[in-house]
Amino acid sequence: MNRDEILKWLRECDERRLDELWRRADAVRSAHVGDAVHLRALIEISNHCARLCHYCGLRAPNRDAARYRMTIDEIAPCVMQAAKLGLQTVVLQAGEDDGLTTEWVAELVRRIKHETEMAVTLSLGERGERELAAWREAGADRYLLRFETSHGELYARIHPPRPGRKSDRFEILRLLRRLGYEVGSGVMIGIPGQSFDDLARDIEWFRGLDLDMIGVGPFIPHPQTPLGGGAATSAVGADDQTPHDELMTYKVVALARLVCPDANIPSTTALASLNPAQGRELALQRGANIVMPNFTPPRYRGMYDVYPGKACVHEEAETCLRCIQRRIESIGRTVGVGRGDSPNRRRRSLPEAALIEGSLP
Ligand code: SAH
Repeated sequence: MNRDEILKWLRECDERRLDELWRRADAVRSAHVGDAVHLRALIEISNHCARLCHYCGLRAPNRDAARYRMTIDEIAPCVMQAAKLGLQTVVLQAGEDDGLTTEWVAELVRRIKHETEMAVTLSLGERGERELAAWREAGADRYLLRFETSHGELYARIHPPRPGRKSDRFEILRLLRRLGYEVGSGVMIGIPGQSFDDLARDIEWFRGLDLDMIGVGPFIPHPQTPLGGGAATSAVGADDQTPHDELMTYKVVALARLVCPDANIPSTTALASLNPAQGRELALQRGANIVMPNFTPPRYRGMYDVYPGKACVHEEAETCLRCIQRRIESIGRTVGVGRGDSPNRRRRSLPEAALIEGSLP
């Protein structure tokens, strides 16, 4: 599928033609990754953040955010609860928190690997080669780092680098691959200033990076951020601004499945937040094959406030899990057994070979 075809689908409004896109994505999903929906226990371990991202409620200058950092002794029971309930992957996510030191994270990973059989996914922002290597060495299996947008100028505008450093998420994604991680990335949909062409390029990048996991969700304005008004910048015209809505998110999920048939693609919480009744199920029927129930202790969950109105924020982990299981079964799918490793990665014998330098879309 080339850029023009991707663009055509992104701009498609006719429901009957879109049904064709949903059908194709669902068929490719079924043929390549099957009917099992793999679950990942998400634990949001800290909301401290050193960054100034214009979209995210965790940004350092947000003085309204009450901050927390879980201890290893608080995290361990959440992991054990997920393991007991049959989940085989834990995702540890946080703001870019320098308080999560190299050794502390390594110790946490070692403890989880020692006490459970779970795959460990880290999502701790932009970290250096030494620490990413140490965590891999400690046993971490996967890393999630969305590139957010492939449009360099837009990225620089909404995602200022830390003083004296550069912020190149593509470079980090290549590094993660070299270190032998399963690599996940993705974008926000409908960022103010993001054009249809930008989004089409993002989708081509999913293929160019040969991603193991692709997480996409709608941009949801957070009032305590510079993009909180949700207003488009002057950079793109109104006709060209991508909407940050449900339909556009399904289109990107479906197109991601078509360009990366073997990837693991979650039905994300941001989407469920826009449509609590049906969002999870519809994404699963339009290309997605993963759901990430929230295992953060309820007392911290509301504080991990990247965007307002987050789905599942008040539920106990087990209630959240049961609800997700019911939703999966209601659409005739099954809950996956096993770690749900990326078929991409299993196929890839030489990690370095997969990401061919210069294979820019
Ligand atoms: N510090 C980590 C984790 C951030 S939270 C990192 O930067 O990778 C995970 C994801 O939430 C981000 O990658 C971003 O895509 C998404 N996010 C942040 N703010 C958002 C908003 N206002 N609307 C929708 N998604 C948002």
